[in-house]
Amino acid sequence: MAGTLTFDAPDRWNAFLYREETASFGDGVLAGVPVAIKDNISTKGMPTTCGSLILEGYVPPYDAHVVTLLKKAGAALAGKTNMDEFGMGTTTENSAFGPTTNPVDTARVPGGSSGGSAAAVAAGLVPMALGSDTGGSIRCPASFCGIVGLKPTYGRVSRYGLVAYSNSLEQIGPLATTVADASLLMSVIAGYDRRDSTSVDRPYAHAPSADIRGLRIGVPEEFFGAGVDAGVAERVRDAIAVLEDLGAEAVPCSMPSMASALAAYYVTCTSEASSNLARFDGVRYGPAVDTRQQWHAAFREFRGDRFGKEVQRRIMLGTFALSAGYYGKYYAKAQVARAQVRADFARIFVDADVICGPTMPTAAWRLGEKSDPLAMYLSDILTVPANLAGVPAISVPCGRVNGLPVGLQIIGRHFEDERVVDTAYAYEQEACR
Ligand code: GLN
Repeated sequence: MAGTLTFDAPDRWNAFLYREETASFGDGVLAGVPVAIKDNISTKGMPTTCGSLILEGYVPPYDAHVVTLLKKAGAALAGKTNMDEFGMGTTTENSAFGPTTNPVDTARVPGGSSGGSAAAVAAGLVPMALGSDTGGSIRCPASFCGIVGLKPTYGRVSRYGLVAYSNSLEQIGPLATTVADASLLMSVIAGYDRRDSTSVDRPYAHAPSADIRGLRIGVPEEFFGAGVDAGVAERVRDAIAVLEDLGAEAVPCSMPSMASALAAYYVTCTSEASSNLARFDGVRYGPAVDTRQQWHAAFREFRGDRFGKEVQRRIMLGTFALSAGYYGKYYAKAQVARAQVRADFARIFVDADVICGPTMPTAAWRLGEKSDPLAMYLSDILTVPANLAGVPAISVPCGRVNGLPVGLQIIGRHFEDERVVDTAYAYEQEACR
């Protein structure tokens, strides 16, 4: 049984695109707990726009698998959160519905693309939220807003009902104020679903443990290289020292594939996006195209008007990378580079149980500060490797630089989400004492 009340007024941070207050009488582990949902996750009877005008007013006729699981667990769906259009961005400035601001400092970006979910949690509007992470979109806003964000192992959480941006890279995952809450939400959403062909039968039933004695931590030099802010690097090194005090051992290592990881990511995600976003044709979803014109003129006008600049840029980049004459030069090469990233992780994970480094090279910048797309892409350098390899990664707050939160990123082996969570939990328990 549930009662519903809708709010139209935006919150101070523009975190929510749509709010709902559901009085839930469920009796699961999340009974009555309000959970916010990123607006690219389908919710039956609730708008799902992906931050795009092309889906303005679209209301899905079905729930994503994770939403079904949330309802079964008794959660109260708090509404849908703002995001970079289709997940394409690092700041939540690429939303057709205006940017979200960072609750820590409203002159700054909250990170992206799950910026609405992170801001809603950081501002205390909800205790937990779902985001999606294709190249860092859970971990980046968690880091910028000073909260916890987990990108699960690829395949562990069903993508059924997640509006696809780049299928081979993305996972849905939790954002919360504490590691224990993120872990609890993960236990609700993980598990096998036959409707996602990449789903793996690895449920997550885990109570975080702070005992990390004997843990070997790989510290890749590339995570502290050029472009990484000195203050951020210092906070993260301090955090690794805390883990060592708790009985872990840090082992220096190197990830040469980082040199081509970002390029591999951007060729792969734009290629997949160019194909995925072809479905927005003004016929099947959202507002309808004017069919009195020639179809190609109508199609061009509709997509030209309703897709934002960044989305159009990526569709063009991806279409180019996949075109007959250039496929071998771009897409095929990106897959080789992707295999090298995977091989680097496999090698490092022989001698290390987890890898630690910063989540983002800097703290949150000012709204409007980064306008060059390439400069924006470069800030994803530390988060994309985990997506390219499909391994789990978490961001946990580890202090501040100039008053702005810094995130410690912990990356693990495939299906060792539990170990990543334990490492973050051990740090959090020690640092927050
Ligand atoms: N910033 C990256 C991009 O723009 C990651 C986005 C994401 O994870 N959805 O593609």
